[in-house]
Amino acid sequence: MNDYNISRTNSNLNKPKRKQYQIAPLTEVLDQLTSIVSFSDITFDDCKKQLTQILELMGAVDQSVIIGITDTAGRIIYANDMFCQITKYTREELIGRNHRILKSDYHDNLFFKNMWDTIVAGEKWEGEIKNKAKDGTHYWVKTTIVPILNNEGKPFMYISIRSEITEGKKAQEQLYSALQEEYRQTVSALDTIIFKVKKNTDGKMYFTLFAGKLAEKLDYSNEDFHHKTAEQVFDKKDADYLYQQFHLAFSNKKVNFKLHIKGKTLFISLSPIVLDDVVVEIVGNVSDITELEKAHETINDMAYHDVVTDLPNQRLFNNDLDKKFRKVQKRTEPFGILCLKINGFTKTNELLGHEVGEKLVCSISTTLKKVVQSFGVLYRSEGSRFLIITKTIESPDQLKDFAEIIQKEISKIQQIDNHEIRLTSNIGASAYPECGNDPQQLVKSAYIALNYSRYKAFCNYKYYTMEVHNYYQENELLEQALKHAIENHELSLHYQPKVDIKHNRIIGAEALIRWNSPQLGSVSPAKFIPLAEETGLIFALGEWVLQEACRQNMEWISMGYSPLKVAVNISPLELQHSMFIPKLQNILERTGLDPKYLEIEITENSIMNDQEESIEIIKKLRDLGVTVAIDDFGTGYSSLSYLKKFPVNSLKIDQCFIKDVMQTPSDAQLVIGMINIAHVFGLEVVAEGVETLEVADFLKSYHCEQVQGYYYSKPIPADRFEEKFLIMAHASL
Ligand code: C2E
Ligand code: MG
Ligand code: MG
Repeated sequence: MNDYNISRTNSNLNKPKRKQYQIAPLTEVLDQLTSIVSFSDITFDDCKKQLTQILELMGAVDQSVIIGITDTAGRIIYANDMFCQITKYTREELIGRNHRILKSDYHDNLFFKNMWDTIVAGEKWEGEIKNKAKDGTHYWVKTTIVPILNNEGKPFMYISIRSEITEGKKAQEQLYSALQEEYRQTVSALDTIIFKVKKNTDGKMYFTLFAGKLAEKLDYSNEDFHHKTAEQVFDKKDADYLYQQFHLAFSNKKVNFKLHIKGKTLFISLSPIVLDDVVVEIVGNVSDITELEKAHETINDMAYHDVVTDLPNQRLFNNDLDKKFRKVQKRTEPFGILCLKINGFTKTNELLGHEVGEKLVCSISTTLKKVVQSFGVLYRSEGSRFLIITKTIESPDQLKDFAEIIQKEISKIQQIDNHEIRLTSNIGASAYPECGNDPQQLVKSAYIALNYSRYKAFCNYKYYTMEVHNYYQENELLEQALKHAIENHELSLHYQPKVDIKHNRIIGAEALIRWNSPQLGSVSPAKFIPLAEETGLIFALGEWVLQEACRQNMEWISMGYSPLKVAVNISPLELQHSMFIPKLQNILERTGLDPKYLEIEITENSIMNDQEESIEIIKKLRDLGVTVAIDDFGTGYSSLSYLKKFPVNSLKIDQCFIKDVMQTPSDAQLVIGMINIAHVFGLEVVAEGVETLEVADFLKSYHCEQVQGYYYSKPIPADRFEEKFLIMAHASL
């Protein structure tokens, strides 16, 4: 077929309709092409030649095929009958109009861009397009667009060959929506929310699904979200945040985040769906983690707060102090740490029960919290220990003022149920930067100062100084050596005789501990006993002393010597320990010693701290058959009224009164007074530190029953004591 044939065919009205329809418009196409196409690069003949070939092609296709031709600007320059029929436009209405009039808005801009990019590049494009007919109805066409190229290989028009696939598409859409519905129903049954988000070419992100039981709970419906943007369904702040997360997911990242909506904490995870390396949509999964968060908060709260008092605990203290340090080191602001130890909780628990004890701790904590908040934060470290981090201070002296405020509050009588309880306290303090450049050092300094304050008489507040530091270092050394001493049997007992002055005979002995250290030499008990008390080593040490003294005495008795009463010194801490009596009983049973051959020496101060409790303990000792003496009488509280209350057997007048009794008349008067008072209360009197015969005679003349001192013997090892005093037991002294 050639161009001549075209016109000829066009004029032949008897030819089948199909040919007429195709040829007539094609001649018009040629006319139009002359007006709209620049033929600078193509000759009209060339064009005709090509069109003839196309016509041949068209002749080969069936009448049912929709054919259209557009120019490079997208204007329709040819439409066959089927084209008119499906678009419901007349040919006149179509020719010269841009193909855009058929656009249905179903496809996004990217779709058309791809199509144009392909055909402009001279490539054939194939695809399925949903178009809009003149009456607004939609139809689907399977489309092939063939670019017609000039000599230089550039397209100068495009022929589209389409066949209608609306029915098939409808069926497909129905299937798709049925599947969607089934998917939605499945999703609706889940306790979570599943949502999907798509993005159009303008970058607009919109929901295509939002379903699940959680959605219902939150009063959201799939319809509310369908094709809506986040902004349309959430408030601006949440929507903005969601957009940020959606963006990340669209950049092919798996995203997890939390969102607080309608009083719920939601955990959202976004998964990108990738097709041909492009994220085509994102699927979100939303879980309600409100309860989990609450549980988490409670656990967190429990982890950082004391359960009894609800005060911040040691862990929070550590965190806060670390934070403070980080802050402080930038600005170098001085501040302080106070370590507070409240005395009296344990006894309250033991005497009045845990319920009262707990109320007491809570009550004092609440009061202290209020008092402390003006200058710092209060933490409960453990039991009776509290910590305070102060605000910025001008000088470490200020810490003393804070301590005073605290101690004043603690010293007030606490009224719990019907009980009036009086507490005491000790405070150790340290200041940044003077006492430490890191949290650990600063806290350690405050604790060292606290210990110093606890073990020095008349000291209830101490700031960390060089004196405290030296004391600590010396004690550290000693403590290590003492631990070693207990384990390595460096300890021994020496015995000093107690003499019945009237009959001039030995009636007992006091067991006194000795420590001969390979590194430190002989260390005085006056030095290591307080240290043992401070470090808790006293319990092991004291048990050993009791055991050894009882064993030794039993051995002497078993050897047939006249039985003597051996006295053992018991520290206040040991005495007040709940296991003291059971342990003593056990030792007596183990060694087989008759309790009447054991005396317990306790100091005035140890019983004065808690009189009621001490009375109970002494009673228990007496019930066991053990006798009790008050040691160092006259050096402590010296309240004579307690003598009436405490069921003790004897008083030991401290050697400081005896030493100068002959030279100092006031001491002599005091000693005479003490002997008389003891007798009034029916107690025996023992005078310590008797070094001369005159003193012994003086005491004898005032009816002091027993004496002890270097005049008779220094404390000596067991074997020497045996030799010197037991073998010669009945020998005259
Ligand atoms: P204390 O119980 O009052 O013991 C008497 C102290 O006076 C002993 O000192 C003894 O050696 C010393 N002494 C006895 N007669 C004289 C004398 O005529 N002149 C002088 N200047 N001193 C005399 P020591 O053995 O150094 O003990 C000191 C303190 O250590 C004891 O005082 C006691 O409180 C404590 N202690 C000793 N052994 C133990 C023990 O096993 N357990 C406990 N908890 N404390 C102990
Ligand atoms: Mg003693
Ligand atoms: Mg004494």
